[in-house]
Amino acid sequence: MNDTIYIDEAIPQWKGNFHTHTTLSDGRETPEKVITLYKNAGYNFLALSDHELYFDTDSFDSKNFIMLGGIECAIDAYPDNKWPIGKDRFTIHLHGIYDHSIDHKGARLSHLQKIERRIDTGIDSWQEQIDYMRKNNLIVFLNHPRWSRIRPEYMLSMNGQIATEVYNYGCAVAECTGESEYEWDYALRNGKKLFCVATDDSHWYSPEKMQALGGFTMVQSTSLDKASICSAIKKGDMYASSGPVIKDMRIQEGKLLMKFSPASYVNIISYDSYVPVFRSIDGSPIESMEWPINSNGIKFIRAEIIGLDGKKAWSQPIYF
Ligand SMILES: [Zn+2]
Ligand SMILES: [Zn+2]
Repeated sequence: MNDTIYIDEAIPQWKGNFHTHTTLSDGRETPEKVITLYKNAGYNFLALSDHELYFDTDSFDSKNFIMLGGIECAIDAYPDNKWPIGKDRFTIHLHGIYDHSIDHKGARLSHLQKIERRIDTGIDSWQEQIDYMRKNNLIVFLNHPRWSRIRPEYMLSMNGQIATEVYNYGCAVAECTGESEYEWDYALRNGKKLFCVATDDSHWYSPEKMQALGGFTMVQSTSLDKASICSAIKKGDMYASSGPVIKDMRIQEGKLLMKFSPASYVNIISYDSYVPVFRSIDGSPIESMEWPINSNGIKFIRAEIIGLDGKKAWSQPIYF
């Protein structure tokens, strides 16, 4: 395994939320209020991703804050419920973030443009939706697999999505369906290379219902501008979190080395092998770990940092 840096402590990290709703669809606050909320909370980038409504403007950008073009596209169950297969609940939600790194070449939805919600007639309709989004230069994620109740094998049947939400804070606090680790791992185990992101899927913004400022993605790039952030997203120079910070992650001289904010323990999820949990002997917080890699038969590893408060960060997978 060659020496490789996955997260470099010498390069800045930018905090953002890709998944946000406002009164433009079923969110409870106006775009202006929501953008101010995230700005004041120290976020560096945000996408408003209302249902079937594209939001893409520079007018809220400031020195340490940029807006990315965003939209969430659902595919409705077929009206008489012949589809989807069986009686699964699932309704597939696909996420589009405009690829600002292409420098305005090619097709682009216009700010506040509404699109039709597609009817689910099976796998072809999911793929048609992804293709439509990619044709409009959107970077596509598959949202909240657990909330959607999609069978994880269906994730293998779609092509063109680059990431999935491993954590969706809104689904977590509202309906206990926020973590989609199983579904993501299933895809990875079967050779589907997907990055992970964590998001808020904010709808409510009240203290009782929360749903904002709970799931975020840290993107690593030398500068905070739309093109650099989108290039970094496409390369997977990012990690998902509900709290902890991963400061550095690299493979050096056959070891996985990580530095992170104070944590209770670290999981290395590996396929096909098992790796013991990393924690201190006396239970005191840890801020780094090293693991001599025995890559025999391993297809991929990924790391989970569990903070002192139980919150979590998820690294991207490293493939062998
Ligand atoms: Zn959704
Ligand atoms: Zn949503």
